[in-house]
Amino acid sequence: MNVAKKNKLLFMVGAVYLVLLVAMPDKAARSSENSTYYVIEMLQIMPVIFILTSLIEAWVPREAITNSFGENSGVKGTLFSFVLGSFSAGPIYAAFPVCKMLLKKGASVSNIVVILSAWAVIKIPMLANEAKFLGPKFMLIRWVLTTISIFAMAYIISKAVNKESLVGIEDKKESESSALAIKHQYCIGCGLCEKLSPNTFIISDKKAKIIVGNVKIEDLNNIENINKAVEKCPAKAIYFKA
Ligand code: SF4
Repeated sequence: MNVAKKNKLLFMVGAVYLVLLVAMPDKAARSSENSTYYVIEMLQIMPVIFILTSLIEAWVPREAITNSFGENSGVKGTLFSFVLGSFSAGPIYAAFPVCKMLLKKGASVSNIVVILSAWAVIKIPMLANEAKFLGPKFMLIRWVLTTISIFAMAYIISKAVNKESLVGIEDKKESESSALAIKHQYCIGCGLCEKLSPNTFIISDKKAKIIVGNVKIEDLNNIENINKAVEKCPAKAIYFKA
């Protein structure tokens, strides 16, 4: 039962295949041919992607990802993301595990949108083919308009989507490595932590944020206030390791 719940989408696809098999057997045969083709392609590509993703996850420090692709990476982060997406190789589904890993390690939602979109529609080898078949002028105009749309989309999605609400993106890593962290998915924005320790917490966008991530052990008064906030937080959303 749990397996079915976890793989709802897969079961739904199976059900559609069954219906097709009964109602339109010829279409069912064609769809299964297409599916088999893609499954074989994925089996060839995905193991390499998973190995690469695991290596980056293990070897590239979180700080490097945050500096290059995080919330505060600014224009540099957007450009890095654009270049990474544009120079990537492989189908778009290969980008998803890479992007999930980057998100977990501190990349911002807007930069992930830029990477995914550039990966999907403006890869360099694709541009070369486009210019060859449709002409350089067509390719250039489409590239400019698509690029503008990508940046606009990145901005809109980053405002509409909360990173903590994304599947499997939690502050677990942050909690493991930081002295102080907030599990934003649990925070109800009551403001108690800000009242108890105004030097450490601030409420912004109805969620608590940390002003100082690493608390110095000498700052005993601050530690006491933070401990009080941890204890009193109604959502148990504050993680603190002194
Ligand atoms: S006390 Fe807890 S729930 Fe309230 S704002 Fe602070 S972290 Fe969020």
